[in-house]
Amino acid sequence: MKIKFERYHLQSDLLSPLNGFEPVSVPTEVRIDPLTKRKSRIITWSLPSKGKFDFSQLIEESKGCIFCPENVLLKTPQFLKEIIPEGRISVGDAVGFPNLFPAGTYGSVVVLCKEHFLNLHEFTPEIYEEGFSVAVEIIRKTISYDPNARFWQISQNFLLPGGSSILHPHLQVIGDPIPTNEMEWLIDAGSSYYERNKSLYWKDLIRMEEGLGERSIATSGSVHWFVPFAPIGFNEVCGVVEDHGSMTTLGKADISSLARGIVSTLRYYYDKDFNSFNFAIYSISGETSHQLLIRIISRTPIQPYYMNDWTSFEVLQSELTSNITPEVLCREIRPYFS
Ligand SMILES: [Zn+2]
Repeated sequence: MKIKFERYHLQSDLLSPLNGFEPVSVPTEVRIDPLTKRKSRIITWSLPSKGKFDFSQLIEESKGCIFCPENVLLKTPQFLKEIIPEGRISVGDAVGFPNLFPAGTYGSVVVLCKEHFLNLHEFTPEIYEEGFSVAVEIIRKTISYDPNARFWQISQNFLLPGGSSILHPHLQVIGDPIPTNEMEWLIDAGSSYYERNKSLYWKDLIRMEEGLGERSIATSGSVHWFVPFAPIGFNEVCGVVEDHGSMTTLGKADISSLARGIVSTLRYYYDKDFNSFNFAIYSISGETSHQLLIRIISRTPIQPYYMNDWTSFEVLQSELTSNITPEVLCREIRPYFS
């Protein structure tokens, strides 16, 4: 078989004070990603939900930020004239401009909406359709100025646990002539899979997952949504856009399918009392074995004295944990995609 789903069952035996000091067995599953061979650990316990967080004070203290409509065209940077003569790019309510504090060669921000804050169930497909249309224009114009900028990440960090200091919903659009670690792992593993099997890993994976029916969520046009066998974050949902490696070749229908899948996932997170998340789209041109991929993960909900979900396991052992079995997550989230 070309794609292998390998796993180890680990078990910890102890005398539990929760059970009159009788012996109990606590299972942990280690799964190996079929492409990257990276291990992830599925634990079976988690802290109970503290319910929905009241954002009113946070909104009151931070409203009128530089991304709010009265400031965005006055206080944000503009692109170099030789790249984007208009200075900024707007589609509907979304506005794209260079990041004042970039983390790469071409770092941009796309403000997604006029609203200073949205709860996860308030994001709409239109918001992401407009935001992605701006991102695509930025990428297209930058690549025609600098064809070496082939490696792009389109990502969202939402709220403090997701790594964003600004509440106002926005995307990061970052392009470089070199890949990130994750991009390099995907490209290298995808190319060696192609050399061995003479077929694309992502196409084979989608067909296999659809056949198994345990982790395949939904297909919308060219976008296939699934829960990965070996997640690299909490409640991870993935989408693969078949026959595209880069955002620049997507049509309106593909962008709309991506937008609707994100909104479906965020509605599920909201119902589970999550409020912070990250997603990243890996958009790479000129790599035949790469398919456009999006990963969405939930983060620890913002709460006073919240506990970060990245422990020494993730940051120092490079071993990622998840506290829901992928097959259970798939069953729970499917109705949100229908
Ligand atoms: Zn704002």
